[in-house]
Amino acid sequence: MPAQKIESPVALVIGGGIAGMQASLDIADKGFKVVLVEKEPTIGGHMAQLDKTFPTLDCSSCILTPKMVEVGSHPNIEAMTYSEVIEIQGEMGDFQITIRKKPRYVDLKKCTGCGLCAEACVQRTRIANEFDMGIGKRAAIYIPFPQAVPQKYLIDPDHCLMLTKGKCGKEPRCQKACGTHAIDFNQKEENVTIQAGAIVVATGYDQFDARLKPEYGYGRYENVLSGIEFERLCSASGPTKGSIEYNGVEPKRVVFIQCVGSRDKTVGNEYCSRVCCMYTAKQAHLVRERIPDAKITICYMDIRAFGKGYEEFYDRVQKEKIIFRRGNPSEIYKRGESLMIRGEDTLLGEPYEEETDLVVLATGLVPRQDAEQLGRMLGISHTPEGFFKEAETKETIPTSKPGVFLAGCCQSPKDIPDAVAQASGAAAMACICLAEGRS
Ligand code: SF4
Ligand code: SF4
Repeated sequence: MPAQKIESPVALVIGGGIAGMQASLDIADKGFKVVLVEKEPTIGGHMAQLDKTFPTLDCSSCILTPKMVEVGSHPNIEAMTYSEVIEIQGEMGDFQITIRKKPRYVDLKKCTGCGLCAEACVQRTRIANEFDMGIGKRAAIYIPFPQAVPQKYLIDPDHCLMLTKGKCGKEPRCQKACGTHAIDFNQKEENVTIQAGAIVVATGYDQFDARLKPEYGYGRYENVLSGIEFERLCSASGPTKGSIEYNGVEPKRVVFIQCVGSRDKTVGNEYCSRVCCMYTAKQAHLVRERIPDAKITICYMDIRAFGKGYEEFYDRVQKEKIIFRRGNPSEIYKRGESLMIRGEDTLLGEPYEEETDLVVLATGLVPRQDAEQLGRMLGISHTPEGFFKEAETKETIPTSKPGVFLAGCCQSPKDIPDAVAQASGAAAMACICLAEGRS
């Protein structure tokens, strides 16, 4: 690392998913201050939406929640949620960063998280809950999920009647219900400028939009779900409390389709998303556990079980009376209430048709929509796929910009253990950078 005057022993971490949280905790534990900026109203990222993690089948929130609480209460971490980085100037040791804080319309200091406002809201249970991928409903004043950090409510400006129409009855019911007078419709957007010596980028990924594969009927047929939607259906904290059902009925036939949006030149994604084979195996296992007599089929191109314990887990799932059919379908269409899957079995060398109640697409991981804009601000480049580019191919953490480090899926798709390992590496490099200013 080049010798340089370090003006600020503060690290900026962009993104509050598992990688951003790990990097923040590692840096903060070494005694440096961290400003963690997260776009969503809570930290936690995609991992908070998962039911179980593969291959150990540990409960995802049992691992994540204590980490979220630790981040939220660490004396060296300032977590700025519902906030975005809008400008970055300067260089290693002396970055000036402008952060936009969006109004929550709820005073964080006064809100106790009691939820009485949401109970009283006239829009209660009318709005699709993004955290549950639209399967569950919420009020216009809400908390994204029960374990959110901070444990504070916010108002959705696109659905609150007071914010969209300027009136909500004679007096907004939410305000009437709030005993601490936390609701404040006068809050405005606010820009804050901070100085940081190093930056860790941990902005994660977006889920592939399965509507780009119209032959699978996603968005057209209600019983074709994406990978994360199925996670919410399986989750004990999800809209069905973990009961795998569609329109209140338990499916007796479930087909999983792998590599949706990955290894697919037709949508421009030639890369492997690295997690879909294993999360499909895990989801198939969960169906077998909860619906013992279900017919379960996995349609695949190849199985990639590369991580520690993955091959063993795959073996275990194969023994759970799950049909593995080589060859992804060419078409899904509706017949009555059922779905028909049509394709070619490339092992048998013959066409097949299968009737099913539910289809789950193993949707891949794609770069975040805003990655290009953030890359421009940071002065770092992208791979042709759109993931942030590391400085050298054999070093996955430093970027071409000194003082800017990568962690997690914003660099390339990866599983949770790899994202956490890379985050700890990025934190160590950021600490070296910050420590130069202490001497
Ligand atoms: Fe409770 Fe008020 Fe916070 Fe709503 S805004 S959760 S009523 S303290
Ligand atoms: Fe709900 Fe009305 Fe309060 Fe908005 S103003 S959060 S719509 S009760």
